[in-house]
Amino acid sequence: MVVGGGPSGSAASMSLAENHDVVVLEEHEIPGEPLQCAGLVTRRGVPEFAKQSILGDIKGARLHSPLGFMLTLEARATRACVIDRSHFDRIMFHEAVDRGAVPMVGTVVRSVAAHGHEMRVEAKLEGRSQEFSARVVVGADGYKSICRHAAGLSPPKHMLTGIQVDLKGVEIDPDFVELYFGRSVAPGFFAWAIPAGDLTRVGLCTWDTELAPAYYLKKFLSKPGFSKARRVSLASGKIPIGPGRTAVSGRIALVGDAACHAKPLSGGGVYTGVKGGELCGHVVDRFLSDPKVKDLREYDSLWKDEFGRELSRAFRVRKVFLNLTDKKLDKALRIFAEPDVRQLLESRGDIDYPASLSSAVLKLAPKLAQFSPQVIESLL
Ligand SMILES: Cc1cc2nc3c(=O)[nH]c(=O)nc-3n(C[C@H](O)[C@H](O)[C@H](O)COP(=O)(O)OP(=O)(O)OC[C@H]3O[C@@H](n4cnc5c(N)ncnc54)[C@H](O)[C@@H]3O)c2cc1C
Repeated sequence: MVVGGGPSGSAASMSLAENHDVVVLEEHEIPGEPLQCAGLVTRRGVPEFAKQSILGDIKGARLHSPLGFMLTLEARATRACVIDRSHFDRIMFHEAVDRGAVPMVGTVVRSVAAHGHEMRVEAKLEGRSQEFSARVVVGADGYKSICRHAAGLSPPKHMLTGIQVDLKGVEIDPDFVELYFGRSVAPGFFAWAIPAGDLTRVGLCTWDTELAPAYYLKKFLSKPGFSKARRVSLASGKIPIGPGRTAVSGRIALVGDAACHAKPLSGGGVYTGVKGGELCGHVVDRFLSDPKVKDLREYDSLWKDEFGRELSRAFRVRKVFLNLTDKKLDKALRIFAEPDVRQLLESRGDIDYPASLSSAVLKLAPKLAQFSPQVIESLL
């Protein structure tokens, strides 16, 4: 049984449905609604059959410091793409159903509990309670995951809060995303403007602040360039970052945001969710098919090998970022703009694995160590 029909749940369902009976319980009638995403992903996060959800390619980023400095990073080839996230989620969900998963939309899971070798899942459907039993539960139920609570697994280290509007009438370079940093812009994270077809997605995340993200967004939208644009839609949501050591407890395995697998430096969780869903599906398949496989722990080794080390490294880089004053952030961006460092970032930068470049960057620019010597030493 899979709880949650987002990209992670659909990916897990796809890899399981070939050999097993899979039921997907999704609380909303339409998967992918309401939208809670800017849609910036790498192409490796978009399976071939979902390519039609791509709205455009991105070649680079402009990073705006709080003191007005701007660093442009431009790759020779496409580095990322922007997807229509609702469309993407629907394609993923329908693909899982085509491969044999049984969808139950409008079904809100209320509790998950183990009874011997069986899992019992209690849900509400059309106002009535219903109980399901399953041999394994894949928890793909996003940031507020009931499955995570039921499994007694660690909450995220940080829970970011995000808000975003789609604007019509903004003049933006279609090849670049614009990222804005600063404690008065988006404390604890950053703000963005992302070209998305004929719209521009403008939003931000914050962390550990008293004022709501809407306060910062209102201020951000008063910038020239945004202030005259027409607002088409508004979305908000949370992003759990900093996973625990395991995503498995007994017969429950967590994937995607439920497992806090979103990337600490960008907040992106589509790639890790889809990849983790696939890996989890394979391990559950082996567990259900082969009596010699006694538990689901192999899934932990697989997600850690694939992206877990990157997540913990990126979380350490985030700690350095959180300690930077606006002045130091400006200084750091100016160091990234030095020709050797910039060339390295442009040639090898990867938004799915940004922290994997940290030791190479630090070797080229040892003066970055001034910002947090201890943490930076641990990254070398
Ligand atoms: C403002 C914002 C911008 C973002 N921008 C990006 C971006 O540009 N790129 C990127 O990669 N990521 C981005 N993310 C993160 C990304 O949206 C998530 O990491 C991603 O959606 C995780 O997928 P998931 O399938 O694990 O969880 P979700 O997409 O949250 O899916 C979980 C599903 O479970 C269902 N569910 C939850 N509880 C229950 C229940 N009790 N019973 C039944 N069903 C339930 C939900 O309805 C939902 O369909 C952004 C997030 C926010 C908030």
